[in-house]
Amino acid sequence: MLLYGDYHTHTIYSHGVGDIIDNARIAKQKGLKQLAITDHGFDHKLFGVDRNKIPEMKKKIEMAEKETGLDIFLGVEANFKSLDGTIDVLQEDLQYLEILNLGFHRFVKTDLSNKFSLFYPNIMHIKTKSQIKKNTNMVLKALDKYPINTLVHLNYGFQVDINAIAPVALQRGTAIEINGKKNCLSDKEILILAEKGVKMILNSDAHIPEKVGEVNLSLNIVERLNLPHELIVNLDKNFLEKKRN
Ligand SMILES: [Zn+2]
Ligand SMILES: [Zn+2]
Repeated sequence: MLLYGDYHTHTIYSHGVGDIIDNARIAKQKGLKQLAITDHGFDHKLFGVDRNKIPEMKKKIEMAEKETGLDIFLGVEANFKSLDGTIDVLQEDLQYLEILNLGFHRFVKTDLSNKFSLFYPNIMHIKTKSQIKKNTNMVLKALDKYPINTLVHLNYGFQVDINAIAPVALQRGTAIEINGKKNCLSDKEILILAEKGVKMILNSDAHIPEKVGEVNLSLNIVERLNLPHELIVNLDKNFLEKKRN
């Protein structure tokens, strides 16, 4: 398959409908070599992962790896909590998280000041220069504080300035996701990322097992914008080589 791995998938541990083994079996069927289980961050009010379930998830991942032969990573899709760049992952969580995705979501536990300065304005789709600046600075601060692997579905639910984020993502080695379900980056923004040499990643954001590895929307963008394949971290380079020869 063209895709080496899918690094953003959900299970019953947040609000996905399949268990870990279901995502793994579909990933194997579709020819993926790697898979990440990245359920919603711990402080999501409706479906955040329960930290007490982590050992159980680890065990299920081990079993699924044995059955399918895939590398399966335990990760999380963390939430922004406040404008100072705090996310809902603690330093002590980092020891067992192999993949740290980060995105903006509603219904996150926060304080009153961030409700008014971060959540309400974005939920009301306020896109003033000053709000975009606040959002962007929050992303930059989070990149500075945490080892973020991927910024997922940027501009979904909040607007940021890609020009400001690109150089920092590049320097930190953080990939920007082209989400297979809901890409909210414009062609222009994606081309800015490509021009600056920022790594990009194509993920399904599957909430049902059958959708694991489904990134046609993202692949279409890669092809249409003629993005350099070496910038797309999860394209199978061996497959591409074979195709070229
Ligand atoms: Zn999300
Ligand atoms: Zn997600």
